[in-house]
Amino acid sequence: MQHPLQDIAAQQPPFDPADAPVEAVLARGGRALRMSWADGSSAAAPAETLRLRCRCAWCTRARVDGRFPDAFADAAITAVEPMGGYAVHLTFADGHDRGIFPWTYLRSLAREASPPAQAA
Ligand SMILES: [Zn+2]
Repeated sequence: MQHPLQDIAAQQPPFDPADAPVEAVLARGGRALRMSWADGSSAAAPAETLRLRCRCAWCTRARVDGRFPDAFADAAITAVEPMGGYAVHLTFADGHDRGIFPWTYLRSLAREASPPAQAA
């Protein structure tokens, strides 16, 4: 007989605890979120990228309706609030504050924006 909680856990998106950074700080006046991980790597995700890639219900709906902007030239992050260890809630300077960004997603966006330097 299976435990019902195990079924629920199996349905959660995969989360590698190593994706949660040891440090996450705003850089360039909120225009980037710089993260450092326990393995010694670090990368910065531009605020505009995060604003463009927000996956909240509002942004998802706006994309479906074709009214989501192509760019956020002045995008900046004004608040970073940890959410239960697996994600952060970001507030943007334009007032948008619905985005929950899992660390795994943030790490992939940051790596996309700043690929790790080749080892010498
Ligand atoms: Zn959003």
